[in-house]
Amino acid sequence: MPEIVVVGGGITGVAAADALAREGHAVTLIEKTGIGAMASGWTLGGVRQSGRDPAELPLARAAVEIWPGLSDALGVDVEYRRKGNLRLARTPAEVDVIRELVASQRAQGLDLDFLPDTAAVRALAPAISPSVLAASFCPTDGHANPIKATQAFAQSARRQGATLREGVAAIALRVMRDRVVGVETNAGFIAADRVIVAAGVNTPELLQPLGLDLPLSIKIVTVVQSEPLPPSLDQVLGVANADCAGRQEATGRLRFTGGLYDWPLDAARWTTDSLAPSEKGVRNVVALFGQVLPIAASAPIERTWGGLIDLTPDALPAIDAPESVAGLVVAAGFSGHGFCLGPVSGLLCADLALGRSARLDLSAFRLERFKDRAIAAAEVTLHG
Ligand SMILES: Cc1cc2nc3c(=O)[nH]c(=O)nc-3n(C[C@H](O)[C@H](O)[C@H](O)COP(=O)(O)OP(=O)(O)OC[C@H]3O[C@@H](n4cnc5c(N)ncnc54)[C@H](O)[C@@H]3O)c2cc1C
Repeated sequence: MPEIVVVGGGITGVAAADALAREGHAVTLIEKTGIGAMASGWTLGGVRQSGRDPAELPLARAAVEIWPGLSDALGVDVEYRRKGNLRLARTPAEVDVIRELVASQRAQGLDLDFLPDTAAVRALAPAISPSVLAASFCPTDGHANPIKATQAFAQSARRQGATLREGVAAIALRVMRDRVVGVETNAGFIAADRVIVAAGVNTPELLQPLGLDLPLSIKIVTVVQSEPLPPSLDQVLGVANADCAGRQEATGRLRFTGGLYDWPLDAARWTTDSLAPSEKGVRNVVALFGQVLPIAASAPIERTWGGLIDLTPDALPAIDAPESVAGLVVAAGFSGHGFCLGPVSGLLCADLALGRSARLDLSAFRLERFKDRAIAAAEVTLHG
Protein backbone atom coordinates (compact mmCIF):
# COMPACT_ATOMS: atom_id res chain seq x y z
CA MET A 1 0.00 0.00 0.00
CA PRO A 2 1.30 3.47 -0.84
CA GLU A 3 2.49 5.84 1.89
CA ILE A 4 0.57 9.03 1.26
CA VAL A 5 1.33 12.54 2.52
CA VAL A 6 -1.17 15.37 2.21
CA VAL A 7 0.23 18.91 2.42
CA GLY A 8 -2.35 21.38 3.74
CA GLY A 9 -5.11 21.14 6.33
CA GLY A 10 -7.80 23.17 4.58
CA ILE A 11 -11.04 21.51 3.54
CA THR A 12 -9.42 20.05 0.41
CA GLY A 13 -6.58 18.37 2.29
CA VAL A 14 -8.60 17.07 5.23
CA ALA A 15 -11.32 15.71 2.93
CA ALA A 16 -8.62 13.93 0.89
CA ALA A 17 -7.05 12.49 4.05
CA ASP A 18 -10.46 11.33 5.25
CA ALA A 19 -11.33 9.71 1.91
CA LEU A 20 -8.01 7.83 1.78
CA ALA A 21 -8.10 6.76 5.42
CA ARG A 22 -11.65 5.45 4.96
CA GLU A 23 -10.26 3.20 2.23
CA GLY A 24 -7.69 1.89 4.70
CA HIS A 25 -4.65 3.76 3.37
CA ALA A 26 -1.79 5.07 5.48
CA VAL A 27 -2.06 8.86 5.33
CA THR A 28 -0.12 11.62 7.05
CA LEU A 29 -1.42 15.16 6.71
CA ILE A 30 0.90 18.04 7.51
CA GLU A 31 -0.45 21.51 8.17
CA LYS A 32 1.91 24.40 8.70
CA THR A 33 -0.25 26.21 11.28
CA GLY A 34 -3.64 24.78 12.22
CA ILE A 35 -6.55 22.97 10.56
CA GLY A 36 -8.70 25.51 8.68
CA ALA A 37 -6.19 28.31 9.33
CA MET A 38 -6.45 29.85 5.87
CA ALA A 39 -9.15 30.02 3.17
CA SER A 40 -11.25 27.27 4.76
CA GLY A 41 -11.52 29.39 7.89
CA TRP A 42 -11.75 32.79 6.16
CA THR A 43 -14.51 31.73 3.76
CA LEU A 44 -18.12 32.88 3.49
CA GLY A 45 -19.19 29.22 3.55
CA GLY A 46 -21.55 29.21 0.58
CA VAL A 47 -22.37 25.81 -0.94
CA ARG A 48 -23.58 26.65 -4.41
CA GLN A 49 -23.87 25.37 -7.93
CA SER A 50 -25.39 28.52 -9.42
CA GLY A 51 -22.98 30.90 -11.11
CA ARG A 52 -20.40 28.15 -11.71
CA ASP A 53 -18.33 27.76 -14.85
CA PRO A 54 -19.83 24.89 -16.93
CA ALA A 55 -16.63 22.87 -16.39
CA GLU A 56 -16.97 23.14 -12.63
CA LEU A 57 -20.73 22.61 -12.44
CA PRO A 58 -20.57 18.77 -12.37
CA LEU A 59 -18.20 18.97 -9.38
CA ALA A 60 -20.47 21.41 -7.57
CA ARG A 61 -23.49 19.22 -8.26
CA ALA A 62 -21.67 16.17 -6.96
CA ALA A 63 -20.67 18.12 -3.85
CA VAL A 64 -24.24 19.25 -3.26
CA GLU A 65 -25.30 15.57 -3.32
CA ILE A 66 -22.79 14.87 -0.54
CA TRP A 67 -23.41 17.88 1.74
CA PRO A 68 -26.81 16.79 3.16
CA GLY A 69 -25.31 13.55 4.52
CA LEU A 70 -22.07 15.08 5.76
CA SER A 71 -23.06 15.72 9.39
CA ASP A 72 -24.05 12.06 9.76
CA ALA A 73 -21.03 10.76 7.84
CA LEU A 74 -18.58 12.83 9.89
CA GLY A 75 -20.42 12.63 13.22
CA VAL A 76 -20.53 16.43 13.74
CA ASP A 77 -23.25 18.94 12.89
CA VAL A 78 -21.63 21.06 10.17
CA GLU A 79 -24.68 23.38 10.13
CA TYR A 80 -25.47 22.68 6.49
CA ARG A 81 -28.61 24.52 5.38
CA ARG A 82 -30.14 24.06 1.94
CA LYS A 83 -32.41 27.08 1.56
CA GLY A 84 -31.18 28.37 -1.77
CA ASN A 85 -29.01 31.08 -3.26
CA LEU A 86 -30.37 34.38 -4.53
CA ARG A 87 -28.21 36.34 -6.96
CA LEU A 88 -29.58 39.85 -6.98
CA ALA A 89 -29.88 42.49 -9.68
CA ARG A 90 -29.62 46.09 -8.47
CA THR A 91 -29.76 47.88 -11.83
CA PRO A 92 -31.46 47.24 -15.20
CA ALA A 93 -28.06 46.17 -16.62
CA GLU A 94 -27.72 43.60 -13.81
CA VAL A 95 -31.24 42.32 -14.57
CA ASP A 96 -29.98 41.42 -18.07
CA VAL A 97 -26.91 39.69 -16.60
CA ILE A 98 -29.06 37.61 -14.25
CA ARG A 99 -31.61 36.76 -16.96
CA GLU A 100 -28.80 35.50 -19.19
CA LEU A 101 -27.22 33.55 -16.36
CA VAL A 102 -30.51 31.79 -15.66
CA ALA A 103 -30.98 30.91 -19.34
CA SER A 104 -27.46 29.52 -19.75
CA GLN A 105 -27.46 27.56 -16.50
CA ARG A 106 -30.91 26.12 -17.11
CA ALA A 107 -29.57 24.94 -20.47
CA GLN A 108 -26.87 23.08 -18.50
CA GLY A 109 -29.61 21.36 -16.50
CA LEU A 110 -29.47 23.40 -13.30
CA ASP A 111 -32.70 24.04 -11.44
CA LEU A 112 -32.55 27.84 -11.45
CA ASP A 113 -35.47 30.29 -11.50
CA PHE A 114 -35.61 33.87 -12.66
CA LEU A 115 -37.49 36.08 -10.18
CA PRO A 116 -38.53 38.95 -12.44
CA ASP A 117 -39.41 41.67 -9.92
CA THR A 118 -38.95 42.98 -6.41
CA ALA A 119 -42.15 41.37 -5.13
CA ALA A 120 -41.03 37.92 -6.28
CA VAL A 121 -37.65 38.34 -4.59
CA ARG A 122 -39.10 39.67 -1.33
CA ALA A 123 -41.74 36.93 -1.24
CA LEU A 124 -38.84 34.54 -0.72
CA ALA A 125 -36.66 36.80 1.41
CA PRO A 126 -38.61 39.70 2.96
CA ALA A 127 -35.46 41.15 4.56
CA ILE A 128 -34.08 42.08 1.15
CA SER A 129 -34.17 45.75 0.19
CA PRO A 130 -37.10 46.97 -1.95
CA SER A 131 -34.46 48.52 -4.23
CA VAL A 132 -33.51 45.06 -5.57
CA LEU A 133 -35.03 44.62 -9.03
CA ALA A 134 -34.82 40.88 -9.78
CA ALA A 135 -32.82 37.76 -8.91
CA SER A 136 -31.90 34.24 -9.82
CA PHE A 137 -32.90 31.59 -7.30
CA CYS A 138 -31.29 28.19 -7.02
CA PRO A 139 -33.26 26.24 -4.39
CA THR A 140 -30.68 23.48 -3.99
CA ASP A 141 -27.84 25.81 -3.01
CA GLY A 142 -27.06 26.51 0.62
CA HIS A 143 -24.35 27.13 3.19
CA ALA A 144 -22.49 25.50 6.06
CA ASN A 145 -20.17 26.27 8.96
CA PRO A 146 -16.69 26.19 7.42
CA ILE A 147 -14.69 25.69 10.60
CA LYS A 148 -16.99 22.92 11.82
CA ALA A 149 -16.94 21.20 8.42
CA THR A 150 -13.15 21.38 8.09
CA GLN A 151 -12.57 20.24 11.67
CA ALA A 152 -15.13 17.45 11.22
CA PHE A 153 -13.26 16.04 8.22
CA ALA A 154 -10.02 16.27 10.20
CA GLN A 155 -11.48 14.47 13.22
CA SER A 156 -13.03 11.82 11.00
CA ALA A 157 -9.70 11.28 9.19
CA ARG A 158 -8.00 10.80 12.58
CA ARG A 159 -10.66 8.32 13.68
CA GLN A 160 -10.09 6.37 10.45
CA GLY A 161 -6.39 6.13 11.30
CA ALA A 162 -4.82 9.11 9.50
CA THR A 163 -2.03 11.02 11.24
CA LEU A 164 -2.56 14.78 11.27
CA ARG A 165 0.45 16.89 12.22
CA GLU A 166 -0.26 20.55 12.85
CA GLY A 167 2.65 23.01 12.97
CA VAL A 168 4.56 20.99 10.38
CA ALA A 169 5.35 22.85 7.14
CA ALA A 170 6.43 21.31 3.85
CA ILE A 171 9.61 23.02 2.70
CA ALA A 172 10.16 21.05 -0.52
CA LEU A 173 8.97 17.93 -2.28
CA ARG A 174 11.74 15.38 -2.86
CA VAL A 175 11.70 13.76 -6.31
CA MET A 176 14.00 11.01 -7.63
CA ARG A 177 13.94 9.79 -11.23
CA ASP A 178 10.74 11.77 -11.91
CA ARG A 179 8.91 10.13 -9.00
CA VAL A 180 8.01 11.76 -5.71
CA VAL A 181 9.71 10.05 -2.76
CA GLY A 182 8.74 12.29 0.12
CA VAL A 183 8.48 15.72 1.66
CA GLU A 184 11.15 17.81 3.38
CA THR A 185 9.52 19.56 6.32
CA ASN A 186 10.54 21.82 9.19
CA ALA A 187 10.27 18.68 11.35
CA GLY A 188 12.43 16.43 9.15
CA PHE A 189 11.94 14.29 6.05
CA ILE A 190 8.73 12.26 5.60
CA ALA A 191 8.99 9.45 3.05
CA ALA A 192 6.00 9.00 0.76
CA ASP A 193 5.30 7.52 -2.62
CA ARG A 194 2.21 9.71 -3.14
CA VAL A 195 2.00 13.38 -2.18
CA ILE A 196 -1.13 15.50 -2.45
CA VAL A 197 -0.39 19.23 -2.43
CA ALA A 198 -3.45 21.15 -1.24
CA ALA A 199 -1.66 24.16 0.19
CA GLY A 200 -3.95 26.91 -1.14
CA VAL A 201 -2.14 30.15 -1.96
CA ASN A 202 1.20 28.53 -1.01
CA THR A 203 0.96 25.73 -3.56
CA PRO A 204 3.02 27.38 -6.38
CA GLU A 205 6.16 27.66 -4.25
CA LEU A 206 6.14 23.87 -3.72
CA LEU A 207 5.53 23.12 -7.41
CA GLN A 208 7.92 25.60 -8.98
CA PRO A 209 11.17 23.71 -8.14
CA LEU A 210 9.66 20.70 -10.00
CA GLY A 211 9.16 22.79 -13.14
CA LEU A 212 5.40 22.96 -12.63
CA ASP A 213 3.63 26.27 -12.97
CA LEU A 214 0.41 27.11 -11.14
CA PRO A 215 -0.02 30.82 -11.93
CA LEU A 216 -1.99 32.47 -9.16
CA SER A 217 -2.87 36.07 -8.65
CA ILE A 218 -3.54 36.52 -4.97
CA LYS A 219 -6.56 38.61 -4.07
CA ILE A 220 -7.91 39.77 -0.72
CA VAL A 221 -11.53 39.95 0.41
CA THR A 222 -12.89 41.70 3.51
CA VAL A 223 -15.25 39.64 5.66
CA VAL A 224 -17.60 41.10 8.28
CA GLN A 225 -19.37 39.07 10.96
CA SER A 226 -22.15 40.65 13.02
CA GLU A 227 -23.32 39.82 16.49
CA PRO A 228 -26.17 37.25 16.60
CA LEU A 229 -29.46 38.64 15.24
CA PRO A 230 -32.96 37.15 15.16
CA PRO A 231 -33.47 34.80 12.19
CA SER A 232 -34.21 36.87 9.09
CA LEU A 233 -32.42 35.36 6.09
CA ASP A 234 -32.44 31.74 4.92
CA GLN A 235 -30.71 32.05 1.56
CA VAL A 236 -27.15 32.96 0.61
CA LEU A 237 -27.13 36.29 -1.20
CA GLY A 238 -24.87 37.30 -4.05
CA VAL A 239 -25.07 40.05 -6.63
CA ALA A 240 -24.69 40.10 -10.40
CA ASN A 241 -21.17 41.59 -10.46
CA ALA A 242 -19.92 39.67 -7.38
CA ASP A 243 -18.91 42.77 -5.43
CA CYS A 244 -20.63 41.51 -2.26
CA ALA A 245 -22.20 38.34 -0.84
CA GLY A 246 -23.55 37.22 2.51
CA ARG A 247 -25.62 34.87 4.60
CA GLN A 248 -27.00 34.44 8.10
CA GLU A 249 -25.20 31.71 10.02
CA ALA A 250 -26.97 29.10 12.15
CA THR A 251 -25.91 31.20 15.19
CA GLY A 252 -27.82 34.22 13.84
CA ARG A 253 -24.64 36.10 12.93
CA LEU A 254 -24.53 37.74 9.51
CA ARG A 255 -21.34 36.92 7.61
CA PHE A 256 -20.77 39.02 4.53
CA THR A 257 -18.00 39.99 2.15
CA GLY A 258 -17.00 42.67 -0.32
CA GLY A 259 -15.27 42.32 -3.69
CA LEU A 260 -11.75 41.17 -4.59
CA TYR A 261 -8.68 43.42 -4.40
CA ASP A 262 -5.05 42.73 -5.30
CA TRP A 263 -2.96 41.46 -2.39
CA PRO A 264 0.34 43.25 -2.80
CA LEU A 265 2.53 41.10 -0.51
CA ASP A 266 4.09 37.66 -0.74
CA ALA A 267 1.42 34.99 -0.10
CA ALA A 268 3.81 33.10 2.17
CA ARG A 269 4.19 36.10 4.46
CA TRP A 270 0.64 36.89 5.46
CA THR A 271 -0.18 37.54 9.09
CA THR A 272 -3.57 38.11 10.67
CA ASP A 273 -2.51 41.75 11.15
CA SER A 274 -1.40 42.25 7.56
CA LEU A 275 -4.72 40.83 6.34
CA ALA A 276 -6.84 42.93 8.72
CA PRO A 277 -9.17 45.23 6.78
CA SER A 278 -9.07 49.00 7.32
CA GLU A 279 -11.98 50.76 9.00
CA LYS A 280 -12.79 52.37 5.67
CA GLY A 281 -12.73 48.97 3.95
CA VAL A 282 -15.17 47.58 6.52
CA ARG A 283 -17.44 50.63 6.17
CA ASN A 284 -17.50 50.11 2.39
CA VAL A 285 -18.48 46.45 2.71
CA VAL A 286 -21.19 47.25 5.26
CA ALA A 287 -22.55 49.98 2.98
CA LEU A 288 -22.48 47.74 -0.10
CA PHE A 289 -24.12 44.70 1.48
CA GLY A 290 -26.44 46.97 3.50
CA GLN A 291 -27.89 48.20 0.21
CA VAL A 292 -29.27 44.74 -0.53
CA LEU A 293 -29.86 43.61 3.07
CA PRO A 294 -30.71 46.69 5.16
CA ILE A 295 -30.34 44.89 8.53
CA ALA A 296 -26.63 44.49 7.71
CA ALA A 297 -26.17 48.27 7.62
CA SER A 298 -27.08 48.64 11.29
CA ALA A 299 -26.01 45.25 12.70
CA PRO A 300 -23.45 45.46 15.52
CA ILE A 301 -20.16 44.09 14.19
CA GLU A 302 -18.49 41.34 16.20
CA ARG A 303 -15.46 40.54 14.06
CA THR A 304 -13.83 41.43 10.75
CA TRP A 305 -10.99 39.76 8.86
CA GLY A 306 -9.34 39.55 5.47
CA GLY A 307 -9.10 36.36 3.42
CA LEU A 308 -6.81 35.53 0.52
CA ILE A 309 -8.08 34.01 -2.71
CA ASP A 310 -5.93 31.72 -4.92
CA LEU A 311 -7.15 33.00 -8.29
CA THR A 312 -6.02 31.19 -11.46
CA PRO A 313 -6.11 32.84 -14.91
CA ASP A 314 -9.37 31.08 -15.82
CA ALA A 315 -10.79 31.04 -12.26
CA LEU A 316 -10.83 27.22 -12.30
CA PRO A 317 -8.80 25.01 -9.97
CA ALA A 318 -5.95 22.64 -10.76
CA ILE A 319 -6.97 19.10 -9.77
CA ASP A 320 -4.39 16.96 -11.46
CA ALA A 321 -1.75 14.26 -11.28
CA PRO A 322 0.86 15.76 -13.64
CA GLU A 323 2.60 13.16 -15.79
CA SER A 324 6.06 14.67 -15.31
CA VAL A 325 6.19 13.77 -11.59
CA ALA A 326 4.79 10.33 -10.78
CA GLY A 327 2.98 10.12 -7.46
CA LEU A 328 2.21 13.84 -7.25
CA VAL A 329 -1.35 15.17 -6.99
CA VAL A 330 -2.18 18.89 -6.98
CA ALA A 331 -5.48 20.36 -5.77
CA ALA A 332 -5.36 24.15 -5.49
CA GLY A 333 -6.30 27.38 -7.20
CA PHE A 334 -9.96 27.08 -6.26
CA SER A 335 -10.36 30.80 -7.05
CA GLY A 336 -12.87 31.55 -4.31
CA HIS A 337 -15.12 28.52 -4.99
CA GLY A 338 -13.46 25.63 -3.20
CA PHE A 339 -15.33 25.34 0.09
CA CYS A 340 -18.46 23.89 -1.52
CA LEU A 341 -16.32 21.53 -3.57
CA GLY A 342 -14.29 20.26 -0.59
CA PRO A 343 -16.11 16.95 -0.07
CA VAL A 344 -15.81 16.06 -3.74
CA SER A 345 -12.28 17.47 -4.15
CA GLY A 346 -11.20 15.09 -1.41
CA LEU A 347 -12.64 12.10 -3.27
CA LEU A 348 -11.04 13.25 -6.53
CA CYS A 349 -7.64 13.61 -4.83
CA ALA A 350 -8.03 10.07 -3.50
CA ASP A 351 -8.82 8.77 -7.00
CA LEU A 352 -5.75 10.48 -8.46
CA ALA A 353 -3.43 9.48 -5.61
CA LEU A 354 -4.48 5.86 -5.98
CA GLY A 355 -3.90 5.93 -9.74
CA ARG A 356 -7.47 5.15 -10.77
CA SER A 357 -9.67 7.09 -13.17
CA ALA A 358 -11.21 10.07 -11.50
CA ARG A 359 -14.95 9.71 -10.87
CA LEU A 360 -15.58 13.03 -12.66
CA ASP A 361 -14.08 14.58 -15.77
CA LEU A 362 -11.00 16.56 -14.71
CA SER A 363 -9.78 17.55 -18.18
CA ALA A 364 -10.57 21.24 -17.57
CA PHE A 365 -8.45 21.24 -14.41
CA ARG A 366 -5.09 20.06 -15.72
CA LEU A 367 -2.02 22.08 -14.80
CA GLU A 368 -0.81 21.81 -18.36
CA ARG A 369 -3.47 24.24 -19.56
CA PHE A 370 -1.52 27.13 -18.06
CA LYS A 371 1.22 26.61 -20.68
CA ASP A 372 -1.36 27.90 -23.14
CA ARG A 373 -0.94 31.65 -23.02
CA ALA A 374 -4.27 32.00 -24.80
CA ILE A 375 -6.12 31.29 -21.56
CA ALA A 376 -7.50 34.74 -21.00
CA ALA A 377 -7.87 36.23 -17.55
CA ALA A 378 -11.43 35.26 -16.74
CA GLU A 379 -14.09 37.39 -15.14
CA VAL A 380 -14.13 36.17 -11.55
CA THR A 381 -17.32 34.43 -10.55
CA LEU A 382 -18.75 34.98 -7.12
CA HIS A 383 -16.90 33.75 -4.03
CA GLY A 384 -20.16 32.66 -2.49
C1 LIG B 1 -13.46 35.58 1.92
C2 LIG B 1 -13.67 34.29 1.19
C3 LIG B 1 -14.94 33.89 0.86
C4 LIG B 1 -15.13 32.66 0.22
N1 LIG B 1 -16.40 32.24 -0.02
C5 LIG B 1 -16.60 31.00 -0.53
C6 LIG B 1 -17.91 30.48 -0.64
O1 LIG B 1 -18.88 31.12 -0.25
N2 LIG B 1 -18.07 29.23 -1.18
C7 LIG B 1 -17.02 28.49 -1.60
O2 LIG B 1 -17.23 27.39 -2.08
N3 LIG B 1 -15.76 28.95 -1.47
C8 LIG B 1 -15.53 30.18 -0.94
N4 LIG B 1 -14.26 30.65 -0.78
C9 LIG B 1 -13.15 29.83 -1.24
C10 LIG B 1 -12.87 28.68 -0.30
O3 LIG B 1 -12.86 29.13 1.03
C11 LIG B 1 -11.53 28.05 -0.67
O4 LIG B 1 -11.51 27.78 -2.07
C12 LIG B 1 -11.31 26.75 0.07
O5 LIG B 1 -11.45 26.94 1.46
C13 LIG B 1 -9.91 26.27 -0.27
O6 LIG B 1 -9.59 25.19 0.58
P1 LIG B 1 -8.16 24.56 0.46
O7 LIG B 1 -8.11 23.43 1.42
O8 LIG B 1 -7.87 24.27 -0.97
O9 LIG B 1 -7.15 25.73 0.88
P2 LIG B 1 -6.91 26.37 2.32
O10 LIG B 1 -8.11 26.33 3.17
O11 LIG B 1 -6.24 27.69 2.11
O12 LIG B 1 -5.89 25.36 2.96
C14 LIG B 1 -4.53 25.31 2.63
C15 LIG B 1 -3.80 24.91 3.89
O13 LIG B 1 -2.45 24.62 3.56
C16 LIG B 1 -1.63 25.05 4.62
N5 LIG B 1 -0.28 25.22 4.09
C17 LIG B 1 0.17 26.16 3.23
N6 LIG B 1 1.47 25.96 2.93
C18 LIG B 1 1.84 24.85 3.61
C19 LIG B 1 3.06 24.14 3.70
N7 LIG B 1 4.17 24.54 3.05
N8 LIG B 1 3.10 23.03 4.48
C20 LIG B 1 1.98 22.63 5.16
N9 LIG B 1 0.81 23.27 5.11
C21 LIG B 1 0.73 24.36 4.34
C22 LIG B 1 -2.28 26.35 5.08
O14 LIG B 1 -1.89 26.70 6.39
C23 LIG B 1 -3.75 26.03 4.93
O15 LIG B 1 -4.34 25.59 6.13
C24 LIG B 1 -14.02 31.86 -0.14
C25 LIG B 1 -12.73 32.26 0.20
C26 LIG B 1 -12.55 33.46 0.88
C27 LIG B 1 -11.15 33.86 1.28
